[in-house]
Amino acid sequence: MWLIGRHPLFGGMSGTLVATVMAGVTFAAIDSGRSEELNHAAENSRNIVRIASSDIARNVEIYDLALQAVVTGAQEPQTWALPEALRQQVLFNRATAASSLGGAYVIGADGRVAASQNGGAAAGVLLSDRDYFLAQARSPNIGLFVSKPLFSRLRGGVPTIALSRRINGREGQFAGVALLAVRLEYFQHLLARIDVGRHGGVFILMQDGTMLASKPPGLRAVGASYADSPNYAIISRRPSGTYTGRSLVDGRMHIYTWEHIGNTPLIVAIAPAVDDVLLPWRRRAWFAIVMTVLFGGAWVVVSWVLAFALRDKAIAEGELMRLAVTDPLTGLANRRALDSRLASEWQRAMREHEPLSVLFFDIDHFKIFNDTYGHAAGDDVLTLVAERIAAGTRRTSDMAARYGGEEFTVVLPGTALESAAKIAEKIRRRIESANLAHSGSHYGRVTVSVGCTSCNPPQGGSAAQLLAAADRLLYAAKEGGRNQVKAQWWGGEGVEPANTGPQAAA
Ligand code: GH3
Ligand code: MG
Ligand code: MG
Repeated sequence: MWLIGRHPLFGGMSGTLVATVMAGVTFAAIDSGRSEELNHAAENSRNIVRIASSDIARNVEIYDLALQAVVTGAQEPQTWALPEALRQQVLFNRATAASSLGGAYVIGADGRVAASQNGGAAAGVLLSDRDYFLAQARSPNIGLFVSKPLFSRLRGGVPTIALSRRINGREGQFAGVALLAVRLEYFQHLLARIDVGRHGGVFILMQDGTMLASKPPGLRAVGASYADSPNYAIISRRPSGTYTGRSLVDGRMHIYTWEHIGNTPLIVAIAPAVDDVLLPWRRRAWFAIVMTVLFGGAWVVVSWVLAFALRDKAIAEGELMRLAVTDPLTGLANRRALDSRLASEWQRAMREHEPLSVLFFDIDHFKIFNDTYGHAAGDDVLTLVAERIAAGTRRTSDMAARYGGEEFTVVLPGTALESAAKIAEKIRRRIESANLAHSGSHYGRVTVSVGCTSCNPPQGGSAAQLLAAADRLLYAAKEGGRNQVKAQWWGGEGVEPANTGPQAAA
């Protein structure tokens, strides 16, 4: 309280500091909440991508097993000798187990459909220009080949990808292609089940950048290439990962998480929008920020207001305390301050065996001055005399006080009689030399009489008795003709008063 009263800045600053630290802690918590939210979203994305990826991988594996069965059946010459219904059974028995299948076929080396899961309807359709056919015809060891999206010639233009394996002849020569058509719907259905938030996206790409399915629909049609997109450049480089980038589709920042699906040329990626992920966090953060700013701001304002109020109170109290010990007319210490100071100096002088002197001033014929010049002029004289008395005391330990009326006292700690008498005489002369006209005085100007006494150190008696001795010497100075100093040891062994001033000199 005392510190704050003296230094309102300290109170205000400490309040501000507390509020700042609290705000700092809050903002740090908000900030870590943000990264937690983003990490959580990325983790969630990784889980979804993993599940989708293994779902697709498992299905592709089942399709491949079915394809291998078709190849084995097709490579067996006896198969082709069977009646059509039976041949279909042998070739496509396993393929029927695979769901979301667009159809299973055997294509001859000439590129025409040789057998089909659903009977003869497709027989003879030419597919020799398809990428899978060309790829299988060209290289014997390509294994499972996944085509680019195509519009099925066998099933009324349904968007499809073709899984294919090569059928070899007896000498290993190209004898045709076993084909499983997978409707792109399968991927679209898979994506439909994934929740990606309001602005999020999820998609399945081929490794060359061809889009197989996306939710929501992308900028380009299914089957179009995104190989030129900066996001594709990142996604295609590593088998899996997470990064934050801007979407070409909606211009928002998204957290992209992807995985290349094992043993296939497919990539599944999910991209929730950063805005969606951070929405609940933003609400919480705003609330916390508003509360922090409101309460922190209020705290700062209150601490400054209190600090300044305390300072004003301290100043007012200080002023009151000063007024309580100050004489309003002359600004010197008042009687109360004099008494307490004199008592403490008395104690100190006894303790430290030091001399202590007291001067008692009284303005000569002041009643007549007042009667002649008026009380206002009298007050001016009192002020001037007080000024000269104060100016005559130089040590900080010296104390000048208005004793009452036109009487003044000076306490001179650590000062012996000789020095005290010199000070008294100096002040007396300075007041005389001010030459304030006083027709009622035979000096023709305002003068003072001074009683000066010292003890070295006090031995018995009291401070009040010391002051009374000075008063008696003052009376002697008046008796002696005024405008003079009477000085004498008090408590000494019959030392005669040492007279100074014009009367003494006369
Ligand atoms: P002496 O030389 O013997 O001291 O004569 P004196 O007239 O000064 O002595 P006295 O004690 O009879 O008169 C003191 C006068 O001082 C009385 C009063 O008119 C005047 N006085 C006391 N206090 C004040 C004050 O605050 N202002 C003014 N103007 N005069 C005051
Ligand atoms: Mg008097
Ligand atoms: Mg007087």
